[in-house]
Amino acid sequence: MAFGYRAPLIGSGEDATVVAFLPRWVGYAWAFPRIDHISFGIATTQDAFDHKALDRLLWDFMVSYYDVAQVGSLRKMQLWKSASKTQIDNLRHKAERYAARIPGLEPRTWDTRKACGEGWALLGDAAGFADPVTGEGIYYAIRSAELFADAYLACEPLKYEALWRKDFGGELKRASQMRRRFYGNFWGAPFTDRMIEFARGHRGIRKVLGQLVAGDQGYVNLKKKLARSALKPL
Ligand SMILES: Cc1cc2nc3c(=O)[nH]c(=O)nc-3n(C[C@H](O)[C@H](O)[C@H](O)COP(=O)(O)OP(=O)(O)OC[C@H]3O[C@@H](n4cnc5c(N)ncnc54)[C@H](O)[C@@H]3O)c2cc1C
Repeated sequence: MAFGYRAPLIGSGEDATVVAFLPRWVGYAWAFPRIDHISFGIATTQDAFDHKALDRLLWDFMVSYYDVAQVGSLRKMQLWKSASKTQIDNLRHKAERYAARIPGLEPRTWDTRKACGEGWALLGDAAGFADPVTGEGIYYAIRSAELFADAYLACEPLKYEALWRKDFGGELKRASQMRRRFYGNFWGAPFTDRMIEFARGHRGIRKVLGQLVAGDQGYVNLKKKLARSALKPL
């Protein structure tokens, strides 16, 4: 589930992009500046969804974002600091709400999913093609359309099934197997916190995680790549 608010830009041209992993929940919150507003949001799994608690968390995040913007340093942003009712009310009348679902299939569904048949085919979100860890689906929507077009133009539309499986099916299944672990515990702290700590101190890990976020590093060999880069000298 994803929901959030479209709220005004700070106006200084300095609006920052922020991604913050949630305390106690699978998922993350974001601030994405756009041309005429900032999109704030939270995405988490449907089974863990608690709208009231998550909404409160998002208002705290938004109030901290604007507070820091006034101070001018994002490093000072105190994530999840409780905002007062007045602070929230001041922002509430300027924010416009939105909510939507993002598909995030379970590992077993990837084996049984069928994305085409006689006279029909599913692409993008309709087929469930979004990354179960990050919720990103734009790439897979466009890529599945390309693959279907290839099969269709070759007069073999049913070959689309084998094409998407080979192209990105394995990656998305691997991501769905990793989802719990990605947001779970690792050496006594959330995996995400540990990875940020490691990335701060280790160039190799920072590089691999940067490639993961940019979509240049897949999930299938992620563990091996992280272990290998951790063993390289700093
Ligand atoms: C809040 C939020 C944030 C996201 N952030 C990211 C991100 O940062 N990066 C990323 O990669 N992905 C992100 N995603 C996921 C991404 O938006 C989707 O995976 C992607 O848009 C799927 O593309 P699509 O073409 O399959 O479906 P859609 O983009 O949903 O397009 C389907 C279109 O069909 C139209 N439609 C529906 N029914 C009918 C009908 N009966 N007749 C005619 N038209 C119809 C809809 O109006 C819509 O325009 C986000 C999703 C949400 C909800």
